[in-house]
Amino acid sequence: MSESIIIAETGKGSVSAVTAELVSAAIALGTSPTVVVPCTDASMADNAGYDGVSRTIAVKGACFENYDAASWASAIDAAAPSGIIIAAATPQSKDIAARIAAKRNLSVVQDVVSIDGMNLTSPIYSGKAMQTVAISGDSVISVRANVFPAASSAAANVSVVDQSGDVSTAVQEIMARASARLDVSEANIIVSGGRGMGSPENFSHLEKLADVIGAAVGASRAAVDTWDDIPHSMQVGQTGKTVNPNLYIAVGISGAIQHLAGMRSSKYIVAINKDADAPIFAHADYGIVATWEEALPVLESELSSMMS
Ligand SMILES: Cc1cc2nc3c(=O)[nH]c(=O)nc-3n(C[C@H](O)[C@H](O)[C@H](O)COP(=O)(O)OP(=O)(O)OC[C@H]3O[C@@H](n4cnc5c(N)ncnc54)[C@H](O)[C@@H]3O)c2cc1C
Repeated sequence: MSESIIIAETGKGSVSAVTAELVSAAIALGTSPTVVVPCTDASMADNAGYDGVSRTIAVKGACFENYDAASWASAIDAAAPSGIIIAAATPQSKDIAARIAAKRNLSVVQDVVSIDGMNLTSPIYSGKAMQTVAISGDSVISVRANVFPAASSAAANVSVVDQSGDVSTAVQEIMARASARLDVSEANIIVSGGRGMGSPENFSHLEKLADVIGAAVGASRAAVDTWDDIPHSMQVGQTGKTVNPNLYIAVGISGAIQHLAGMRSSKYIVAINKDADAPIFAHADYGIVATWEEALPVLESELSSMMS
């Protein structure tokens, strides 16, 4: 059985849930996975044990305090054994995947949404078409979240590799607005707002609904570009994040092709728009023709009573 190396997705000092899905992807490929955990404290890898994984490597280094593509890719590349590299299709991990592919002179397949033997399927042309490529031998792939079931947790057999001395540059500090919210690229439910929300303050109505249903809050590019208070990290679409939730609720979003590119593979799409002819309705499973001012309070109160 060939080897695969899973680069654990990490955030807020722990290993993210999507890592368990990468283990299932590795097993679907017929490989024997090793999980590599980039960390500053090796104890973080203690939670990165899964059924089917015989080894977890904590790659420890000061550079992992803050994200920097070059130093992270160098440190992970130096510590990871050879094999098929598997990362999550988040902006950060796709960046690392591409860099490791270049360092190892391997092919890279990004945004994989299905695996059949060694055939990998991923969207191309902003999601307008799907391509299937066959890999043979070592390569680097990134896999979208919410595609594979999560592998069950198991005790981790951790070995530690200290990369601190091998990294020549590291980012010392990143100043960013702290957000306790779930990131859209990992969320199972997303409530997104567009220019139709009218002002950044009105996003608080989306946050209220998101709190009721355990969702992340996203935005269209028009919202991000128009309002400084809506950060780029929330942007969904061709030049933002690609998301794959079970439920995507688009509020005051017209449904431009560049927005659809980032969310059209959502399992269920609900659109709230006051314009019955808005293109988003052509892609929605459920549509509400109303202003958000009318629709959101009703939705929030109905869902609150259903959830309680
Ligand atoms: C190269 C390129 C890359 C791009 N990348 C992205 C990307 O990654 N992501 C992205 O989103 N866009 C992207 N865009 C921009 C994209 O083309 C659209 O301009 C953008 O998606 C529009 O955002 P919107 O739907 O919020 O705004 P609008 O198109 O202005 O739509 C606002 C909608 O809100 C509705 N509305 C207004 N008031 C209300 C109300 N009170 N209640 C309910 N509905 C209301 C309106 O009927 C309308 O449908 C890109 C464009 C280019 C050229």
